[in-house]
Amino acid sequence: MTKILSVCIILFLFTATIPFTVVSFSPIHNDDTSKNNPLLFSSYVREINESKIRVYLDKLMSFGPRYTGSENCSSAGEWIYSAFSSMNLSVEFHHWDYAGFTSRNIVATIPGSNHNSSIEYLLTAHYDCTPNSLGANDDGSGIAAILTIAETLSQFSFPYTIRFIAFSGEEVGTFGSFSYAKDAYRRGDNIRAVINPDMIGYADTVEGGRTLRFFYPKRSEWIATFAQKIARSYNEIIDMNVDALPNYIGADHQPFVDYGYDGVWVAHQDAYQWANTPEDDPKHLNFSYLTKATKLLLAVIAELAHTNVPVSVQLTEPYEGYGYLKNYSLVPLDFGKQWYWGLRGITVLLGSAQAKAIVESTDPIRWVIFCFDNNFVYWDSEPPYEWNIQGKHAPLIGKHTIRVYAHTTTGFVATDEMDIFSLAIKCQYN
Ligand SMILES: [Zn+2]
Repeated sequence: MTKILSVCIILFLFTATIPFTVVSFSPIHNDDTSKNNPLLFSSYVREINESKIRVYLDKLMSFGPRYTGSENCSSAGEWIYSAFSSMNLSVEFHHWDYAGFTSRNIVATIPGSNHNSSIEYLLTAHYDCTPNSLGANDDGSGIAAILTIAETLSQFSFPYTIRFIAFSGEEVGTFGSFSYAKDAYRRGDNIRAVINPDMIGYADTVEGGRTLRFFYPKRSEWIATFAQKIARSYNEIIDMNVDALPNYIGADHQPFVDYGYDGVWVAHQDAYQWANTPEDDPKHLNFSYLTKATKLLLAVIAELAHTNVPVSVQLTEPYEGYGYLKNYSLVPLDFGKQWYWGLRGITVLLGSAQAKAIVESTDPIRWVIFCFDNNFVYWDSEPPYEWNIQGKHAPLIGKHTIRVYAHTTTGFVATDEMDIFSLAIKCQYN
């Protein structure tokens, strides 16, 4: 115990530079999509065709198996970089080094035209695969889709930023996306939603041929609901439904969820027996299904980045992924290799720390409500919005969720949350 405490004090001296003003996510439950023209992006949807997707997929296949850290993987990454560059998008490599692997993610950006907002949307897929697989469906299908969508949307301007990200490191433990999510959180990126298609190239039934599945944690349900609404609006030209399903933690959206952002994994419905085998080859893919999935994902990301966000809230403190003693962040916690524990981004509090929320809104704020485990505890009606984290009727001990809601006087609500492990003995009695 003494040893741990002295390590903590030393680490505290080194963590003075932790950015305390970062923003996390800002989901809005009252969106105003219905005010948009429901088929605003139909001409872009119609531009998507099978031959474009095939060109990207075939080129990716030409590199062979793309195991993270291999020469093939590196060469494929360079080609993805040049493909995004040829669309006149701003592109960068995101270098990462984790758990014995060194590799690069590729990030291409359509910057938002609303300079008063930092909100961004991510459309992501992974270009690595297992050592003996071509990864045609897993996840060549996702990479071909995001390249095709990026090419189609690259000439368009949206109020909010869209980033297309090709990750490596997925098959070895989602290390590429984990490294990106961690860095994005530390930079303070205001990522509102991550949409991660991974295996969207197969269907062998009529029903499977018109179903795209969205897997999400409860807090990210609004993304699937939004996608269902878009699928209905565009049904005549795409003929694809969105099936909403419980979360799966082994895909590249999950590190973002762990760091307090919202995200979904997107996949086809019918069973695909060749994933992670030498038989995951383009010959098994259903290209007309992959084309429909790509069209729907284009419509969803375009409509999201186009839809006005009237209010957003971010829990800025305590800082996710750190151990705290009262208000002092002592030590960064790293459970990235044990991704299956669900502890990436966990915040550990010893004593009562201050929770802080930042609200951005075009309308007046009525109040900001702080909850733990969805139970109301405290409200604040004037900035700065702060709450001393504590139990309501009993000490706050164990794993809990801190949630904040921001209500506007005009009826919009935004919310944000974070998981904590708390040993706070204080209680609030009124
Ligand atoms: Zn995959």
